Amino acid sequence: MKRDTICVQGGYRPKNGEPRQVPIVQSTTFKYDTSEDMGRLFDLEASGYFYTRLQNPTNDAVAAKICELEGGTAAMLTSSGQAANFYAVLNIAGCGDHVVASAEIYGGTYNLFAVTMKRMGVEFTFVSPDASEEELNAAFRPNTKAMFGETIANPALSVLDIELFAKVAHRHGVPLIVDNTFATPVNCRPFEWGADIVTHSTTKYLDGHGAAVGGCIVDSGKFDWTKHAEKFPGLCTPDESYHGITYTEKFGLGGAYITKATAQLMRDFGSIQSPQNAFILNLGIESLHVRMKKHCENGQRVAEFLSTHPAVEWVRYCGLEGDKYHERAKKYLPDGSCGVVSFGVKGGRKAAETFMKQLKVAAIETHVADARTCCLHPASATHRQMNDEELAAAGVSPELVRYSCGLEDADDLIADLAAALDTIK
Ligand SMILES: *Cc1c(COP(=O)(O)O)cnc(C)c1O
Repeated sequence: MKRDTICVQGGYRPKNGEPRQVPIVQSTTFKYDTSEDMGRLFDLEASGYFYTRLQNPTNDAVAAKICELEGGTAAMLTSSGQAANFYAVLNIAGCGDHVVASAEIYGGTYNLFAVTMKRMGVEFTFVSPDASEEELNAAFRPNTKAMFGETIANPALSVLDIELFAKVAHRHGVPLIVDNTFATPVNCRPFEWGADIVTHSTTKYLDGHGAAVGGCIVDSGKFDWTKHAEKFPGLCTPDESYHGITYTEKFGLGGAYITKATAQLMRDFGSIQSPQNAFILNLGIESLHVRMKKHCENGQRVAEFLSTHPAVEWVRYCGLEGDKYHERAKKYLPDGSCGVVSFGVKGGRKAAETFMKQLKVAAIETHVADARTCCLHPASATHRQMNDEELAAAGVSPELVRYSCGLEDADDLIADLAAALDTIK
């Protein structure tokens, strides 16, 4: 089926007389006739449900839809995008391991990697998304277990050279994990360019209405863990906490990674998405393909307006001719990128704050990718833990304003921006 049809109908195919809409299975637990029946589930000998922390039919239907959209073999929902990126890395990298990540990533992910996971013994080397092949190669170590980047970085809006990153990762025998939150599978399928694992903050465009925090991990099933078995003992040797199961043997390349993430990480850390949120997420995805067009159209209109305004220092939107990432976007994002535009107002940090106070249609929020237009000054909000050097490396300058175009009429957004910019001219 084509992408638009998967957005609407993917993941859930009701049988005769069953509910047309994905049912919310609001139950923590599931009933069995015999202990033996349940035992087989615990041993991963039979598939089925026993406890919602591990699996739930609503969540599975929605994960299956996202899996189909991305072209993967297995997927799982998590309680947030943070949990998705944490599990995606921790599933293959532990204490004493190393990961290469793009420096231009979401502030929360940067902190997770550079501070919290570092404390857990996982070391990260951050590289520019524009690094050359040699520079990328040089970042690898014998204990490197993964490479990580964002299709379109939040909020720097750089576009990742997925093909190059995948090539380098594979040369070193590790998978490329791509956070595809901003592009969504409507505008980019990282697996088609060689990525091995995709993550999402479903809180953003996939939900699209600012209603439910959530995350998702999708496996392409293409990375051959067994070829690099010495690097990935967790997938290629028996798991004593699961009766000596070897995930790659029992579930094959298509299922090993997600089964391990579910059976170990979700079992032990428990960041499950509630079935109610999964239902809301699914409603959002039903219109994802329609909404992304409008978000991109508004993004383009707003970026074009800002790029000619005298009070605006610079605009970053890969849809703009002459944008640093325009060529890369033509390759990876031919149908559009997203509705988020970053720009700097003249007068720096202070002017940015004054300008934002004047906006009437756009609201100041720590959010993006929602039906309602919103904006944020990262240097004083999401990225405030970073010093100036780290801000620069993350592609966030003090005057940067992140403006997320919603689904309103672009004329209203532009009039609102024009009025606010007038006050700082
Ligand atoms: C928001 C975001 C996250 C974190 O997701 P939450 O759902 O807020 O936990 C991760 N990556 C990107 C690119 C994001 O925009």
